[in-house]
Amino acid sequence: MFLPSHIASGYLLGKWMKTSPWTVYPFMPVLLLASILPDMDGLFSTTVAGHHSVLHTPIFWIGLFVLMATEGIISKNDKKKSIALALLLGTQVHLVTDWITARTVGIQWMFPSSYKDYFLFPIQPEQGQVPIWEMGQNPYFSFYMENPFLFFGEVGILILASMLYLKERGKHS
Ligand SMILES: [Zn+2]
Repeated sequence: MFLPSHIASGYLLGKWMKTSPWTVYPFMPVLLLASILPDMDGLFSTTVAGHHSVLHTPIFWIGLFVLMATEGIISKNDKKKSIALALLLGTQVHLVTDWITARTVGIQWMFPSSYKDYFLFPIQPEQGQVPIWEMGQNPYFSFYMENPFLFFGEVGILILASMLYLKERGKHS
């Protein structure tokens, strides 16, 4: 999945959630940041197919959440709790959408007990031997968008999130 649709998915999740002591400010900004955080590993990889590191495994973020949430609960700090939850949810939404839209590399859900790569549609790693900064260009881009489900899914999420955002802004102005 591409970065704009990752942010849009995080935004939709945040808007859908009920407010609680776990969602106090800065829940939303952290959630949006977390929804693209796993792709930081792209900075350390030369190809699209090779870019998934430990940042694209659930266990890494679950571990971080347990540490941060425990610290937040012990210190009775709602802010820390909401940052912990936002980091967990944003990154998990990223992994789920990357799993659905996997084209060249999947998600290792069971890491570290297994290195098995999971994906919804068949993947073609050989198509992912392009530098990450060429993801938005052809031939990778048209290969990625060949699957109509993915194309309309990504565009749909972007449109839905933009409409919701504009509606929210209209309410406050
Ligand atoms: Zn990713």
